[in-house]
Amino acid sequence: MLVDYPPIHINFLGTGTSSGVPMIGCNCNVCTSTDPKDNRLRSSVMVTSPEKKLVIDTTPDFRYQMLRTGTGHLDAVVFTHPHKDHIAGMDDIRAFNFFSQKPMELYANYLTEEALRRDFYYAFADHKYPGVPEINLNSIDDKPFTIGDMDIVPIEVWHMKMPVLGFRFGKFTYITDANRLDEESKEKVRGSEVVVINALRKEKHISHFNLQEAVDLVHELEIPRAYFTHISHQLGLHAEVCRDLPNGIELAYDGLTLDL
Ligand SMILES: [Zn+2]
Ligand SMILES: [Zn+2]
Repeated sequence: MLVDYPPIHINFLGTGTSSGVPMIGCNCNVCTSTDPKDNRLRSSVMVTSPEKKLVIDTTPDFRYQMLRTGTGHLDAVVFTHPHKDHIAGMDDIRAFNFFSQKPMELYANYLTEEALRRDFYYAFADHKYPGVPEINLNSIDDKPFTIGDMDIVPIEVWHMKMPVLGFRFGKFTYITDANRLDEESKEKVRGSEVVVINALRKEKHISHFNLQEAVDLVHELEIPRAYFTHISHQLGLHAEVCRDLPNGIELAYDGLTLDL
């Protein structure tokens, strides 16, 4: 798989925690920063291969994320977990239905499927109101699956007590909303050249890695290049935090792109 993996282009659509940065009503130095790298929509990435374009999660900012990247075509959405900041924007796949005249392919585990069926019940009705999202729901678990030319390996990680799916695309691994990985999952990440991991803030948190825990995990797994995401205003200014990070580790920011 590693040898033949197609070239992929990664676009960070959002790198903020559930409230986004700035946070409504907050006047802290991060929320009022004039550095565009301190403005973070909710966390999501777009992965583009020669054959397919997919996003990981549809955040509450999904519509704007598609507009500001000029995305006119999307083949699939792969979901990590059912929390609202990762599924809320699903309704806006309607625009893609309209132009492609096809249902959107969604990939979700049982937990996320349950939430999608509850929160977007009208898209699952037997007799649908015209104009609701047209979707084709594909069930996934911890077994590898394929979208076009991309073999994707799900990696189960822990968000306190909730299993969340990370995803490995050849040399690239994306993990959000985790605070713990089992040995078996660490094994699936090892050998990646680039890893994205969530790092919420410096202080400890019950369901997210903090900055030091994320750094320690990158070092433990011996990953040469890492980008942190799902960042809170509490982490501090992008420029200042990046200055203190070890070699090979950076904070991601909205609009960052990578080619692998
Ligand atoms: Zn989240
Ligand atoms: Zn703030």
